[in-house]
Amino acid sequence: DATAAVERAVEAVVGGDRAQHVTTIQIEQDGRRRHLAVTIAPVHDATDAVVALSVVVRDITTLMTAVDRERRAAASIEAQQRVLQRIASDDDLAHTLDDLCRDVEQRLPGAHCTVLTVDPQEEVLRHASAPSLPPSYAAAIDRLPIEEGMGVCGTAAHRQSVVVIRDVLRDPLTASFVELARAHDLRSAWSHPLVARTGEVLGTFAVYRSEPYEPDDEERRSVTAAGRLAALAIERRSDRQALSVAALVDPLTGLPNRVQFMDWLERALCSRPESVAVMFLDLDQFKGVNDSMGHPAGDRMLVEVARRLTAALRSDDVLSRFGGDEFTVLVRDADRRDLAAVAEELLATFAEPFVVDGREFFMSGSIGIAHGAEDVDPFDLIRDADVAMYDAKARGPGRHTMFGAALRERALARVAVESELRRGLERGELVVEYQPVFDLCTRECLGAEALARWQHPDRGLLPPSEFIPVAEESGLVVMLGARVLNEVLAQIRRWADQGLHLPVSVNVSPVQLADAHFVSEVRQALVRHGVDAGLLYLEITESALMEDLDAAREALGALASIGVGVLIDDFGTGYSSIGRLSDLPVTGLKIDRRFTIALGSNQSMTKVTIAIIDLALALDLAVVAEGIEDESALEALVGLDCGVGQGFHLARPGPPELVAALATSYQELNGSRTGPGSLPRRW
Ligand code: C2E
Ligand code: CA
Ligand code: CA
Repeated sequence: DATAAVERAVEAVVGGDRAQHVTTIQIEQDGRRRHLAVTIAPVHDATDAVVALSVVVRDITTLMTAVDRERRAAASIEAQQRVLQRIASDDDLAHTLDDLCRDVEQRLPGAHCTVLTVDPQEEVLRHASAPSLPPSYAAAIDRLPIEEGMGVCGTAAHRQSVVVIRDVLRDPLTASFVELARAHDLRSAWSHPLVARTGEVLGTFAVYRSEPYEPDDEERRSVTAAGRLAALAIERRSDRQALSVAALVDPLTGLPNRVQFMDWLERALCSRPESVAVMFLDLDQFKGVNDSMGHPAGDRMLVEVARRLTAALRSDDVLSRFGGDEFTVLVRDADRRDLAAVAEELLATFAEPFVVDGREFFMSGSIGIAHGAEDVDPFDLIRDADVAMYDAKARGPGRHTMFGAALRERALARVAVESELRRGLERGELVVEYQPVFDLCTRECLGAEALARWQHPDRGLLPPSEFIPVAEESGLVVMLGARVLNEVLAQIRRWADQGLHLPVSVNVSPVQLADAHFVSEVRQALVRHGVDAGLLYLEITESALMEDLDAAREALGALASIGVGVLIDDFGTGYSSIGRLSDLPVTGLKIDRRFTIALGSNQSMTKVTIAIIDLALALDLAVVAEGIEDESALEALVGLDCGVGQGFHLARPGPPELVAALATSYQELNGSRTGPGSLPRRW
């Protein structure tokens, strides 16, 4: 000890050693520690004998405190770094907080630290860390209300400021915790609220001692620093939790998303598969609403749809936004419920108009239902419901379909057809037939419409209805369409080489039109075959145009700029408004077969036909009538000023030679035409 060290130094100096330095600590009356530096040096006489000692005592307390502080600061920086590392690596929160508490306990001997965290749902403090206190203490303090008088921590969290209690046994704030304090030998307590960047209280960091005590400024500072780190760690965890919630919830509607839905579906199928059903609901023509009213309006629609569907469902049914305008429902107790009735109720929520931006409009949905069974996996069930939904949609808006054996067979057949078609395209089984188009007055063959056929090895020549829908669904139609176009341009080229300038129109699927490369591929194909763009027309159905008007307008504009004509196919069936039609860059309209066939026999259809022809004339568009099956229809059209048409009455689709023969025989009878510039009319 100190006295012994000084005595040893004195002896050494007396025994002939040189000056000795000793530092000691002296405890004062008031308990404060004083650091003393003692220097003992010999005083010699002329013979070099030690005759006296010189003792110099210096108070180096200030210096030593500074050194001490430095050393502690270094240790605390090291500890902080360790904790930050844990926070950054998303270490378990309890571990991080335990580490922090232990670090503070090491720096404040005799202290016990605890961290409590706020439970935002229940608005209480939950035990988070107390590494040096027994579990009985943690259990007793768990779920502490955030209120004045609720111990040092409840009060600190409530006041959002530091609370120091010198003697727990005597303070009203801890009155109801006296027993607990006695049981764990805790006498003084002090608590810091932990505050987030946003200002909200996340929890408390408290320090307890077994004697009455008040912390000094330095102690407060080090606990404040530890509290900041604790707050950081807690915030980091809640950020992480928010992120994992976001991964499961659709932010727009607040409904569970696809990931969450699939998880629940999987679990439901594990327990009682036969009691589970999935409904797949898709909005009809939502894209149109989105495009015409803008995305914010579309978003509001979806939120409203989600609200209505939620209200129509039982609380134990799970509704999710599966994606875009698709919603799915997980129906429990499906074996005991009338699923058709549930679907009807959901569809009935569309009966009321939707009001967006002060405008009212109607919307509908289509629902497919699939019932769970032993060994069915969630993806299969969703796929079945999806297949059923497409069937419902095909039958018209606002319907529902139950998936069953018939649909399964059809779906399987589709898949089979798709792979067969893919192979067929590779083997060159695609054939193009040409249906001649005539000047209805002179009966001159003006050109033709190209129609795709599939020369199937077993089933013979198949019409487009047998393969175009599958091609569209699978995307194969892009390749198929390119082949047709290529074949047609090669044919136009061959005719041109024979001196025949016959324009041909080619049908284009909306899937092709939506393809970003479509227009440039058309242009390249024209160049490749050396064909005048004026000899090519593209036919696009009215409904395809209206589906995505903005995209269509862009593609049509680009086609017009390269000189390719565009005809609106099946006109009269797609409900396009005159306003929209007038600003689309199109060349002409093709009157749908339904109208032509009804000419003369059906009054209102005849009126529509007249209106279409008048509209085309007014907008300076060409009109082509299709489906002319008899002489009377032909005469009626001529009488109505529709000068161009096609139909079985005039010529059925056939090989290119048929068109060439018709065109040349007319020219031989009536004189030859010279080149595309002299074509009689646009069509
Ligand atoms: P569409 O564009 O309306 O083609 C006219 C259809 O009417 C053709 O049927 C044609 O054979 C038929 N038709 C012609 N005159 C008459 C008539 O007087 N009476 C009756 N009842 N029908 C007549 P097809 O060849 O079966 O084609 C059906 C549909 O398939 C076409 O309807 C078109 O939308 C589509 N299609 C044909 N070829 C292609 C193609 O290369 N690509 C794409 N995407 N679709 C095609
Ligand atoms: Ca057509
Ligand atoms: Ca047509």
